[in-house]
Amino acid sequence: MICGIDIGGTFTRIGAVDETFTVHDLQRVKTSEIADDFSAFLKAYVKTHPSIHRIVMGFPGVVNPQTHAIVKIPNQPALERLDIQALGRALNLPIDIDKDTYHLFRYDQRKGDLLNHLNLLGFYLGTGLGHVMYLNGQIHYGDDFAAAELGHQALKHGEKPCPCGLKGCFETVVSGHYLAHLHETYFKTVPFDDLFRQTVDSDHRDVIDTFVDDFAFIIASQMHILDVRHIIIGGGIPVMKDFPKVQLVDRIHVHLRKSHLIPANIYFSENPTEQGVIGAAIAGYEKE
Ligand SMILES: [Zn+2]
Repeated sequence: MICGIDIGGTFTRIGAVDETFTVHDLQRVKTSEIADDFSAFLKAYVKTHPSIHRIVMGFPGVVNPQTHAIVKIPNQPALERLDIQALGRALNLPIDIDKDTYHLFRYDQRKGDLLNHLNLLGFYLGTGLGHVMYLNGQIHYGDDFAAAELGHQALKHGEKPCPCGLKGCFETVVSGHYLAHLHETYFKTVPFDDLFRQTVDSDHRDVIDTFVDDFAFIIASQMHILDVRHIIIGGGIPVMKDFPKVQLVDRIHVHLRKSHLIPANIYFSENPTEQGVIGAAIAGYEKE
């Protein structure tokens, strides 16, 4: 079995995944509670699951899957000190690492029956804004494995600080972080989970409309630049109750500047909790 690990900005999920991509003993812990001693956490899990023969981990930031270096994890900097090669030697198991969104993408590619598309873009709106550029049949990693950091792109130099250290990143206006800020500022009396449902007639609904429109603009820009009509929209926000999917799709079409990209072919990910764990295992089994 392959041990799949999905290290999120907020929660980490771990499970043992068999060849039919069924997860056994899925566990969820707060990332902040294990970030300082991740090795101990992983060793304890592996010890109780002797059938594990490989480990695949997804990180919420930039990592180098070839050298196993963890380059930048803005939301959990403690993880940048993790020595993957030493960990692999200590456990006597091969360990592969990649960006978490690439594992979510691999899951959606199968689940959405999208494996036959040579060009496909993924947009994952969760705590941050994750992106995948799958071009000519493979993920585009870039020169230093830091491609597709769309959430840290900027239209112009805004002043809002981002956890990554830069200012004015897209994530400062399109992310779960920012949505939590809107909730706190305008809709405090509404439960966060009901944010989209209960604010339809609110006087402040325009801030939600702007949030959706900004997300649509970013998606349409990438589709335009890369000339790709097939996309995946995933992450924890689009699966919230009454997330305005129709409005998002309409706004994407408004912002698209090439008629042949319309209608966009959009697959909305179901974003099950074990998605990153299974996606990590898919990447691992593909190597074998
Ligand atoms: Zn940033």
